[in-house]
Amino acid sequence: MNKLYINGEWTEAHDGQTMELINPATEELLATLPSAGPKDTHVAIEAAGQAFHSWSRTTAYVRAAILKKAADHIRENLPNLAEDMVLESGKPLAEAKGEWTVAANLFEWYAEEAKRAYGRVIPTNRPDKRSSVIWQPMGVIGVITAWNFPAYNPARAWAAALAAGCTVVAKPAETTPLSAFHMVNALIQAGLPKGVINLVIGDPAAIGDAMLDNPILKKISFTGSTRVGKLLMDGASRTHTKLSLELGGNAPVLIFGDVDVEAIAKAAAIARFRNNGQVCIAPQRFYVEKSIYQRFAERLTYYVSQLKIGSGFDEGVNVGPLITERQRDSVVALLERARSQQAQILTGGDIPPALTKGYFLQPAVVAGLDQSSVLARNEIFGPVLPLFSFDGLDDALAKANDTEYGLAAYVFTNHLPTAIRAAEGLEFGIIGINEWAPHGTEAPFGGWKHSGQGHESGSEGLYEYMEKKLISIGGLAG
Ligand code: NAD
Repeated sequence: MNKLYINGEWTEAHDGQTMELINPATEELLATLPSAGPKDTHVAIEAAGQAFHSWSRTTAYVRAAILKKAADHIRENLPNLAEDMVLESGKPLAEAKGEWTVAANLFEWYAEEAKRAYGRVIPTNRPDKRSSVIWQPMGVIGVITAWNFPAYNPARAWAAALAAGCTVVAKPAETTPLSAFHMVNALIQAGLPKGVINLVIGDPAAIGDAMLDNPILKKISFTGSTRVGKLLMDGASRTHTKLSLELGGNAPVLIFGDVDVEAIAKAAAIARFRNNGQVCIAPQRFYVEKSIYQRFAERLTYYVSQLKIGSGFDEGVNVGPLITERQRDSVVALLERARSQQAQILTGGDIPPALTKGYFLQPAVVAGLDQSSVLARNEIFGPVLPLFSFDGLDDALAKANDTEYGLAAYVFTNHLPTAIRAAEGLEFGIIGINEWAPHGTEAPFGGWKHSGQGHESGSEGLYEYMEKKLISIGGLAG
């Protein structure tokens, strides 16, 4: 384990290249791992292409039995898996356990859903003709994923693609491969045939280009930044590789004047800083109705200042380190620019003096902002909560929609017409009303505008990995 996994073997990179895996909480070396390039990627794609011939012809029942066993393996080994996730990502242990639970649920859910990939029969306008539509697995899928959810991001794509009858070449993030190694191992233990799942890590651009260039690979499922998503779109226009893109977000949170200020402020302090704000659907731009703005800001600042920051293994820690020094630098740079635009830091924003090792940053609340602020325009992906105010529903919607992103949005109100009008007026793919976790294994997850194309999770997620085929039968006269 802890190597490339190609054609049923754990293996080194063919040219012997390696890379280092660092613990973001301690800056210590966790492991030295093989670093793949284009050649390893092509070998993996060819193995997946070979395996596709037989895997795509298995029944959904055979595939389901294997995926269900993989889910069971994850559940049985959850404490061990969660500990490795904390080591590589820095997130609190409870969050890591929760994430592995969801990953297991995804494998189980897609094991069941594969059995329901129904086609349809279409009545025709001619008596001598019959039309039907069937769904077939697409082929070899490249799955490139981000580090923020080291198990959930790969699981939702791997589980759906494998359930659909596709084979996979996975490239998890180089900063969090341990969880992906565990997930491959769960599939091996469950009896997945060789070549059906392959894993490469290494030079991301070289691996991405190799995936685009190889005609055996039919689609790339990408979870990551809008910047890299656009690079893949450029490449795909050359090679005609299909794409599913789960990209960045900049979620608005509309808090109307009729809510319980204390309860929402307390919950917001937890929700915004879950996984240190490194969540694509993280509630980011907090728009608070003017009538409650001042009180909300005070109570929120209090709760955020109480968050416990430290190692993900420490009891009661809410916020771990950021994933890399570079990620922390990018958040600090955004805060500096906001300061230069007259923003007020109500709490946090400093590197905690007591934590001399690790990429920690004190959770911040920032006020005095308008729509032109860098904290309104950019995806922050870190522990910063910018506060804005609004005056009525139309103002709230105009400000919330004033972004190129369209992944998730949140609405808090007890007034049903306001909730419905807000939900219908928001230009986002996912709307949470009076809740902070608007997603589910069984529900479609996807972004509008620059936040992506296609969906993961739910039945929509299965069809992302299947092709629709019309079968038209003529000459049936007499
Ligand atoms: P990133 O785009 O830098 O990296 C994502 C993945 O792409 C990694 O595996 C990386 O190695 C790989 N990659 C980097 N350059 C590449 C290239 N040229 N060709 C091919 N692959 C390449 O993103 P990140 O900083 O790791 O992750 C954070 C971003 O991911 C945020 O914008 C976040 O919103 C987004 N995200 C979106 C979702 C979603 O479901 N919409 C979920 C999680 C994260």
